[in-house]
Amino acid sequence: MKIVEVDKSIRELVVANDGYCPCTIVKNEDTKCMCKEFKEQTSGLCHCGRFEKVEELTIHVMHGYDTVQAPTGEDCFGCYISGKHEIYVADNIPADQFFYTIAHEYMHYLQDIEGREFNEKEADDFAQSVFTLKE
Ligand SMILES: [Zn+2]
Repeated sequence: MKIVEVDKSIRELVVANDGYCPCTIVKNEDTKCMCKEFKEQTSGLCHCGRFEKVEELTIHVMHGYDTVQAPTGEDCFGCYISGKHEIYVADNIPADQFFYTIAHEYMHYLQDIEGREFNEKEADDFAQSVFTLKE
């Protein structure tokens, strides 16, 4: 998760309001920008629309490797690290396999952030819907 300032124009309103959220009348520690309510929420925009919490996915390309080791100990072209929003993928593999693997692991990322069980069939179906592997 990352905090992004999506509307910089709000900054002036905050300054004009002595550093407090321009949406609130009450000025206390909780309404100082960034406000307590936003700090406690897990995703989405803050009250005034200045900041947003967004999910990020990091893809580590292991240059020169033909496999990566999954947390399970198994060697594979790529793996998704549950809860960490990270994909590891080897790049010394055929290009179509490389992109197929990223698509497959990307579906595991979606399953993770949506709080669903990891589903290999769904990940393969998704990867096959975007890439066709050459025989
Ligand atoms: Zn998988």
